[in-house]
Amino acid sequence: MEKTPASNFLEAIISEDLAAGRVQAVVTRFPPEPNGYLHIGHAKSICVNFGLAETFGGRCNLRFDDTNPEKESQEYIDSIQADVRWLGFSWDGEVRFASSYFQQLYDWAVYLVEQGNAYVCDLDAAQAREYRGTLTEPGRDSPFRNRSVAENLGLLARMKAGEFAEGEKVLRAKIDMASPNMNMRDPILYRIRKVPHHQTGDSWVIYPTYDFAHGQEDAIEGITHSICTLEFEDHRPLYDWFIEHLPVPSRPRQYEFGRLNPSYTVTSKRKLKQLVDDGVVDGWDDPRMPTVAGMRRRGYTPAAIRKFCQMIGTTRSDGVVDVAMLEFAIREDLNENAPRAMCVLNPLKVVLTDYPEGRVEELVAARHPTRPELGERVLPFTRELYIDAEDFREEANKKYKRLVLGKRVRLRNAYVIEAVEAVKDAAGTVVEVHARVIADTIGNDPADGIKPKGVIQWVSASSGRQATVRLYDRLFSHESPDKGDRDFMAHINPDSLRVVAGAWIEPALVQASPEQGFQFEREGYFVADRYDHTEQAPVFNRTIGLRDSWGDQGGAGE
Ligand code: ATP
Ligand code: MG
Repeated sequence: MEKTPASNFLEAIISEDLAAGRVQAVVTRFPPEPNGYLHIGHAKSICVNFGLAETFGGRCNLRFDDTNPEKESQEYIDSIQADVRWLGFSWDGEVRFASSYFQQLYDWAVYLVEQGNAYVCDLDAAQAREYRGTLTEPGRDSPFRNRSVAENLGLLARMKAGEFAEGEKVLRAKIDMASPNMNMRDPILYRIRKVPHHQTGDSWVIYPTYDFAHGQEDAIEGITHSICTLEFEDHRPLYDWFIEHLPVPSRPRQYEFGRLNPSYTVTSKRKLKQLVDDGVVDGWDDPRMPTVAGMRRRGYTPAAIRKFCQMIGTTRSDGVVDVAMLEFAIREDLNENAPRAMCVLNPLKVVLTDYPEGRVEELVAARHPTRPELGERVLPFTRELYIDAEDFREEANKKYKRLVLGKRVRLRNAYVIEAVEAVKDAAGTVVEVHARVIADTIGNDPADGIKPKGVIQWVSASSGRQATVRLYDRLFSHESPDKGDRDFMAHINPDSLRVVAGAWIEPALVQASPEQGFQFEREGYFVADRYDHTEQAPVFNRTIGLRDSWGDQGGAGE
């Protein structure tokens, strides 16, 4: 029988585990902490975890690792679920919470104490740091390390009962203060936090650390392959130690892959939160944010994000991925799927002086050049039109293939016109262009043989509609805005948003539904804003510019 080759090292490991009978069915999980919105890095992790379950006919859980109540919230829980669904994945059964295992985790902490493998320690944070040693020097045993099992059990029960203040005591594993792996130097299992929890309310005043909770949560859920990013590689010996020393129901194995770090982007929730809190952006779902919700509002599609995550591969090394690869995936998808439409961002009025006033020709144009099944739209052609001010010059050299006084240009999907006169204001600025229509040029070259050199977009001044168009660009102007100790806030691109209040759009566009994407010909890809777009007041966000100029797209000749 032919075997599909593994497309990455994780697939290879799982194939072998299944072949050797080490696991019967693959169970993975995506375990976000609900302390922020998901970002592009999480999308990668989601694609990896849900993707492996799909590939091997297994299951994938969605579990909130909610061990830090003060930083977590229901808003984040809701947004994370919406984002996973939007990306196109469904988790197995109900959504899960680490907090539903708090009693079990506590019982296991008691078990470790009973076995002489954990103790209550009274060192304060500064002392604990000092005792911990450094990467080059071993740590020293805490003076509380040799408390009796009975004393530890009593103190732990009193910690749980709320008898001590925050920071007064912690529960630590008794492993090895001289271990070269700092994570093994008697790590903290429980700390006192007198804060209510969004799921468990006031039930607990002690909370497990992420390190103590994470692996055991996986064991409870029967996760076969615990996939995480490389920074947890050094934690693996600790997770394995817990699994060996506790009566857990299953034995998950952890595998690490490299984090996704796109250039021109920050992917730390703390930093993303700072952008929101400081008002640099308009919220977690601002279209400039690398969050899933932001990308969604920007007009990125789930299919393109998934494609990108697949394109970049899943490897054992951390590295920066050129954000242009993500943009490439978006363009490729939108080029294939987005209907075409016309929008004039910087309007200049053209009056076709030889075209009858009040006449409306309902021209018909394909919504997509290669996909007739997407249908057609009506483009009303009238005496007064708008073209982009950039598309007209009084004089120009041969390289300029747009409208020039005395010369011709084709209006996209419509007639060839010839500019006759430039009307100027007192300051000498061109405010209107008078032109004439070359008869019988829809779908034909001019009969006199004088062909136009270029094609430009246009919108009828009487039938078109005004719209707000938000031109988004990269949020950071530095390739690696937060590398080392660089201050990412100092590298915000000042031009990441330009709002055009008076753009003109072809009339069919007012019926766009929120989140519908388009290619505005020659301008780029745009999406009707998820929240603000209405038929009365259309609002479009620029998803991304066109990679190629109009001429390179081969659409100029008709
Ligand atoms: P942050 O550093 O932004 O706070 P985190 O890793 O603490 O992120 P979690 O909610 O713990 O955020 O992440 C959930 C899962 O997503 C983890 O398994 C984590 O390894 C993975 N993940 C987070 N960031 C990335 C990334 N940039 N690339 C790939 N996977 C990631
Ligand atoms: Mg984390």
